[in-house]
Amino acid sequence: KEDQSLVESEKPKETFADVGGLEEVKKKIRMNFIMPLKQPEVFAAYGKQAGGSLLLFGPPGCGKTFLARAVAGEINANFFHVELQSILSMYSGQSEHNLHDIFEKARESKPCVLFIDEIDALGGSRHQMRQHHDRMLVNQLLLELDGLQAENDNVFVIGATNTPWYLDSALRRPGRFNHLVFVPPPEESERQTILELKLSGKPLGTLNLSKIAAETKLYSGADLEQLVKDAVESAMERTFEKGEIQPITQDDLKRSAKGRKATTLDW
Ligand code: ATP
Repeated sequence: KEDQSLVESEKPKETFADVGGLEEVKKKIRMNFIMPLKQPEVFAAYGKQAGGSLLLFGPPGCGKTFLARAVAGEINANFFHVELQSILSMYSGQSEHNLHDIFEKARESKPCVLFIDEIDALGGSRHQMRQHHDRMLVNQLLLELDGLQAENDNVFVIGATNTPWYLDSALRRPGRFNHLVFVPPPEESERQTILELKLSGKPLGTLNLSKIAAETKLYSGADLEQLVKDAVESAMERTFEKGEIQPITQDDLKRSAKGRKATTLDW
């Protein structure tokens, strides 16, 4: 049966400008996904196909989902977010059916970005029964990806995983997830950019963000976002005490940084 709740599309407002750093990754995505839509004649002239699929991997919180949303935002496309776990069913054939429905819906909503998270759920299980189920679902996914490739459909599939080593190797052959892109923890200058992005538009004191960036080695984008939220909370508390808007200070940020750990350390 049609399950509406399996996947809902939205139109993200984020663009690449909201994603701090990751210039190499953005460049690769621009060449493969964005330029073919904007200048199809150039790609046609070289006999190059638009679209295809891309697999992002790396530690949690470093912007895989955010980036995929921004791709949709860049090309004003619909965005579907599918967690692979959520379509798995214990009933024979139902997971494949669910996957097919999602691709079908994506095809009806093109141009669109179909983001498939936790794609590693398709591997790594050692249990005999699950292995058989996994294989059927991998085959279905291959079928769907090949179908898109043939139709040149403006459905852009972005897969993501924290554990690429579990990924079924059949998924990495040409025409499938053959673009494997590492989304690393932000470097110092990227951390500064992310801090600037997350603080922008807020009341700020005199800040030395390069100092905070230097002191937050291996923090993910999500860690930095949380750090800013903590600092905002401190400034708001002061605001309520004093009865007028208080700026976020270097001290707020420093204290918040001390209170948070770099989560990519565990990856
Ligand atoms: P997971 O593997 O856990 O799904 P992820 O790599 O998909 O993680 P995101 O969900 O994209 O991580 O990131 C979490 C939040 O961190 C985002 O909503 C965003 O606000 C912030 N963030 C991460 N990286 C960046 C970045 N490079 N620029 C700006 N914000 C970022």
